[in-house]
Amino acid sequence: MLLSARRVAVVTGAARGIGAATALRLAADGMAVAVLDLDEASCKPVVDAIAGAGGQALAVTADVSDRAQVEAAVSRTAEVLGPPTVLVNNAGVLRDNLLFKMTEDDWDTVLGVHLRGAFLMTRAVQTYMTQQTWGRIINVSSTSALGNRGQANYSAAKAGLQGFTKTLAIELGKFGVTANAVGPGFVVTEMTRRTAERLGTTIDALEQHLSQEIPVRRAGRPEDIAHVVSFLAGEDAGYVSGQVIYAAGGPQG
Ligand code: NAD
Repeated sequence: MLLSARRVAVVTGAARGIGAATALRLAADGMAVAVLDLDEASCKPVVDAIAGAGGQALAVTADVSDRAQVEAAVSRTAEVLGPPTVLVNNAGVLRDNLLFKMTEDDWDTVLGVHLRGAFLMTRAVQTYMTQQTWGRIINVSSTSALGNRGQANYSAAKAGLQGFTKTLAIELGKFGVTANAVGPGFVVTEMTRRTAERLGTTIDALEQHLSQEIPVRRAGRPEDIAHVVSFLAGEDAGYVSGQVIYAAGGPQG
């Protein structure tokens, strides 16, 4: 049974952090949203918040690096909400280490989730976008794509996502599909909270320290990134494609 006639978005890694803020924002923009993450229970608070605000959402479970799970999740989204035509590839993990200590597992896990995950999700969803001759793909990259100590795996994945984005823009443009990347700087989430812990400090201390180097003198919030995604996913953003927009409180690159 099809529940929706509005635009349908899939947001990966949407149970918390930037993904959760993005799911909430796209729902507030009027889209039906598939809240995709590793387990259904973790998606429930976001789905409930969207429903509580009068929106429409569905919890979908998948490990984005697993082809069968991705294809099942995308089919279920299409069945319940309608054909997905907005995709936000946001799911992510960190396995930071200096190169000489980085294991093959650290490398494969990070490349698997960010890069293979974005590839599998996009390949599954583009079928619906090209059929509808309309689509918006937004890949969450990072300022780390420009290089960051201890993140050889992550920076390679995030730079790879930028090349992937530009190629999608070239291949899918004629179907009315745009592809862009957002590159957040330092954003306060569970991911950065864990980084702070690993560095032997607190998120508040890390935020205070890093804010001094950020031109707008503050850390990012998930909603700062969701706002950029909302613009790129919008009906009026059809002439912006293949771009990387850094949202980092100052210039990058
Ligand atoms: P987070 O750790 O708070 O949330 C990540 C979400 O992704 C979690 O809900 C997690 O369960 C999910 N996830 C992880 N592996 C998955 C998989 N295989 N399949 C499906 N879901 C999976 O992180 P965040 O800070 O909100 O980061 C979101 C995105 O933004 C990531 O791609 C991250 O690399 C990127 N980013 C974050 C920052 C930052 O400062 N927080 C900066 C730049 C880029």
